[in-house]
Amino acid sequence: MTVGNRLGDRRVVVDKIPLGVYGETMTSPQTYVVIGGVAGGMSAATRLRRLDESAHIIVLERGEHVSFANCGLPYHVGGVIEDRNDLVLQTPASLGVRFALDVRVRSEAISIDRDARTVAVRDLATGHVTDLAYDALVLSPGASPLRIPIPGVERGLVLRDLADMDAIIAAAKDARQAVVAGAGFIGLELAENLVHAGLDVTVVELMPQVLRPFDVEMAHIVAEHLEAHGVHLRLGSGVTAITEHGVELDGGRDSVGSDSLDADLVILSVGVRPDSGLAAAAGLTLDERGYIVVDEYQRTSDAAIYAVGDAVIKQRADGPASPVWLAGLANRHGRLAADAIAGTPHAAVPALGTAVIGLFGLTAAAVGRTERELREEGRTMRVIHTHPSDHAGYYPGASTLALKLIVDAETDAILGAQAIGNGADKRIDVIATAMAGGLKARALADLELAYAPQYASAKDPVNMLGYVDDNLLDGEDSVQWHELDDRVAEGWRLLDVRTAAEYEEAAIPGAELVPLDELREHADRLRGERVIVHCKVGQRGHTATRLLRQYGVTVANLDGGYTTWRAGTAARALTPVRV
Ligand code: FAD
Repeated sequence: MTVGNRLGDRRVVVDKIPLGVYGETMTSPQTYVVIGGVAGGMSAATRLRRLDESAHIIVLERGEHVSFANCGLPYHVGGVIEDRNDLVLQTPASLGVRFALDVRVRSEAISIDRDARTVAVRDLATGHVTDLAYDALVLSPGASPLRIPIPGVERGLVLRDLADMDAIIAAAKDARQAVVAGAGFIGLELAENLVHAGLDVTVVELMPQVLRPFDVEMAHIVAEHLEAHGVHLRLGSGVTAITEHGVELDGGRDSVGSDSLDADLVILSVGVRPDSGLAAAAGLTLDERGYIVVDEYQRTSDAAIYAVGDAVIKQRADGPASPVWLAGLANRHGRLAADAIAGTPHAAVPALGTAVIGLFGLTAAAVGRTERELREEGRTMRVIHTHPSDHAGYYPGASTLALKLIVDAETDAILGAQAIGNGADKRIDVIATAMAGGLKARALADLELAYAPQYASAKDPVNMLGYVDDNLLDGEDSVQWHELDDRVAEGWRLLDVRTAAEYEEAAIPGAELVPLDELREHADRLRGERVIVHCKVGQRGHTATRLLRQYGVTVANLDGGYTTWRAGTAARALTPVRV
């Protein structure tokens, strides 16, 4: 079989892979059964219909609804999406009319007989169990919110479907104080929306930061924004019990310092576990965490059974296989499963994990691996922080964007990126596209991106990342915020090249003020020394670095300048983090 490059033609040479589900020519109408009627399952079912008009396609969904917008659920809690009906995108009836799908809600698949190729289905209204024969089976059962084994866990609410959402809205009506356990995407979206609903909200998170897909100094920007909008954060702290009037915590470190919080509403958003019990009982191969293992055509260890979505382990572009709980991948893989079943297989590309969240008007987006993960794996990398304007500074409404790029030190491959601020989504989408196409970090400088003053700068922030990478490739030395103390302890001198006014406002302890415009006058006395320069964001530091290098000074620039250093050290001061 042949598979193209990441963006190339992924169509395989069909005669080397079984055509259809068994490699048999499909003459008689096929029966396809899909378990799970939301993101991945419904993509597979509708694509199968587009490819095979003659098939009998049955979708089994144990809940009340299919094709609902799970990503929109938090926003109805806060009233941003006003009409609940807007969350229900299709009904069994509408899917029957348009796609001739046989959609059965309140129907739970309870076992699979792989030899007989049948699924046992329980009608949840009557309790009646029937067997359904299949030619090909697609599993898209998703993942369930974790219920951690703590006293009172039954008092905690979770959010996965419309019924959960209704329960949260009902509980929020008479509540004044809420605790959300878990500062992941769903937990923070809920926190924001509970604030919109008028509640006093505290988020408790075991990690020393919010949002795991970001590094701590980036996540801190989000944390400060949440606090500025009234969300209280308890980071590095775990909920150990849910009591009648609130939660107990294992302490953690914060300004409040108490070990309990009052709450009349407690949400658990502490992660998920794959709904792979059915697959396990059927003897399909799972990984050690219980995720279903599939090949690049979404085929499980049984050639007649495919699996997609949150219950499936994903191949990653640069790192070990891992779960990735994102709607885009579930939808795409649902389509790929249908393509393979119908005999027109396309291989999946490795997942990058491109994600975005909006919180109180702040956009935070990320793709690929974090510095934290890569350091734990012992990888050598270049890390770049910049703080450009989202569009030309002279055009009204410009604001600062925080960007981070992580690059393989040897190959210049892009390993990950994070962005926070206006236009973060656009920059991360551009970088994700570059990663998918195998572009090196240096090549970001050469991307021709759309520009007018209200949208970008003539050198877009993504181009600037490429220029900084080019400078580093050219031998410029940079120091990360968390490496500064060690370098100073080794005898490096720290120069602040900002203005006196900036220095007086706030400065890094121990830094000497030598404004950039006066640096030439001091260059001779610095000759032969080891000097770290820093400015506000790293740009003037770069100019200072170039200047001092030419005077024979061994010089390094503090990456991201004072701004990144401040965010990183402030995060570290809040809770003891290891970067
Ligand atoms: P699901 O969409 O969860 O569907 C699985 C369905 O299978 C469920 O309805 C379940 O009832 C059914 N099922 C399970 N077992 C059986 C059985 N034995 N018999 C019958 N039916 C069964 N992703 C993003 O990319 N962006 C976002 O902004 C975003 N926001 C989210 C917000 C919330 C509140 C939630 C919960 C998720 C969000 N996600 C988001 C994640 C995204 O929704 C999931 O990645 C995606 O839905 C996974 O698709 P899936 O088909 O694997 O599972």
